[in-house]
Amino acid sequence: MPHKLELQSVFASYGATSVLKDVSLRVAAGGITALLGANGAGKTTTLRVISGVLRASAGRVLVDGEPLASRSPHAVAKLGVGHVPDGRGTLAELSVEDNLRVGGWLLPRDAQVREQAERMYEIFPALKPRRLQQAGTLSGGEQQMLAIARAMMPRPQLLLLDEPSFGVAPLVVERIFEVLRAINRSEGVSILLVEQNAKLALRTADYAYVLDSGRVALHGDSAQLRENETVQNSYLGA
Ligand code: ATP
Repeated sequence: MPHKLELQSVFASYGATSVLKDVSLRVAAGGITALLGANGAGKTTTLRVISGVLRASAGRVLVDGEPLASRSPHAVAKLGVGHVPDGRGTLAELSVEDNLRVGGWLLPRDAQVREQAERMYEIFPALKPRRLQQAGTLSGGEQQMLAIARAMMPRPQLLLLDEPSFGVAPLVVERIFEVLRAINRSEGVSILLVEQNAKLALRTADYAYVLDSGRVALHGDSAQLRENETVQNSYLGA
């Protein structure tokens, strides 16, 4: 069953710098929600708070109604939350296959790791002939695919994605977003998608939030936001 996510009045800071100021948002079970906003708005920080990398200074994060409190990243991953961080986080020195194995650390049996790796090669056929290639030598698009595949290895029910289009050629971006929609439908995973490319994000997500200086400035159905004048002027290049 896909997870549902809720943030209630989350505040977060780096030392004395306050970054998130009262952020509330939801991802429906089985939904795709986009988080948009300018550079520095706090999108990456929001994902870091959810995955337990950064502790919220106030507010609550709930997965299926269960407060995460101050769980470690390890404990959050065990709950079925996968995180594809910005910069992808693949291990450059390791092969594609070994990156997937590392991603499968939460699966109890080796047979399951192998089975899930095969599933990932079905979803991302471009990775299959490259299983023995060092991750650091893959193209930007292939590295992004590997990062997503790695996060999908433990079969998460919620996937956090930080700018999957970054550093990826436009045609490959289209392909990756098609795969994300397919993963959402077929693998039972809800998605929170951080994306600079608002057009693409609003085509992919069913609901979206716009962060501005650490606050939610706007939110609504993607279709509504596409028609919103502020969104058009600031983010859609109208
Ligand atoms: P971008 O699209 O540029 O990544 P973003 O919306 O994801 O932007 P964040 O990365 O969440 O924004 O950053 C929000 C603010 O927090 C920025 O002002 C940034 O400089 C600051 N910040 C981020 N990481 C740190 C850190 N480790 N220490 C101090 N300040 C930080």
